[in-house]
Amino acid sequence: MNNIKYYDTHAHLNIEEFNIDVESIIEELKKEKIIINCIAVDIETSKSSIELAQKYKNIIYACVGIHPTDGWKYKGKVNETIKELEDLIIKNKNIIICLGEIGLDYYTIYKGSEIDKEFQQELFRKQLDLAVKYNLPINIHNRDADEDLLKILKDYKLQKVMIHCFSSNLESAKKFLERNYILSIPGIVTFKNAKNLHEAVKEIPLEKMVAETDCPFLTPVPFRGQINKPHYVQYVVKEIAKIKSIDEEEVRKILLKNSIDFFQIKIDDK
Ligand SMILES: [Zn+2]
Repeated sequence: MNNIKYYDTHAHLNIEEFNIDVESIIEELKKEKIIINCIAVDIETSKSSIELAQKYKNIIYACVGIHPTDGWKYKGKVNETIKELEDLIIKNKNIIICLGEIGLDYYTIYKGSEIDKEFQQELFRKQLDLAVKYNLPINIHNRDADEDLLKILKDYKLQKVMIHCFSSNLESAKKFLERNYILSIPGIVTFKNAKNLHEAVKEIPLEKMVAETDCPFLTPVPFRGQINKPHYVQYVVKEIAKIKSIDEEEVRKILLKNSIDFFQIKIDDK
């Protein structure tokens, strides 16, 4: 695909219970000139993300990894699971552009989940080892875990770190920006009540952000109540432009460039 206009850095097309019609999404992506990262949350979705990227070259890009709240499936077999993930990375070097989503989610612990902090941290660290070993960018899931997340990341020599679904306040943004991480802004930015995020977006340099949908979750305004789709990333870009009072076309171009540079995508512009 040439003349790409948008890049959705975080989309799930492979979550089975949503029964997503991938073909119709591909048609929309082609029409609107959008490329996307298909994000994984476990071994199964890592495999399907690779398959989708193989099938829809230059439109879908594959990310692999184990989400902190999906990690419980692998309790008691972490080493075998990490080995399986590593084998996928080795076999699909040319297809996989990023490790994600990986990270920490302490919110689910408060909600009574069975995954404890220690286990999440172990799984996270082992995946960071892979990121370093294979020189892969990472797409981070972080919920209520800023402090431990920053502490752990400090132990690794990582090339590129992206904080997925950044929806916190300016103070939190500053901690990530100090480390030169990229913040991926979701559809939450279109919500009227996301005042702290609006304030943060106003201050975060455009060069340090990208846009995402996290579809099928977090549908932006004006599509609330419906399933989220990757091409709604346009509404995220539009809102960022509005908040920063910068021309939308300029914002679109900069965010696209940031994403392409971060994931080192080679655009085939034949
Ligand atoms: Zn996600």
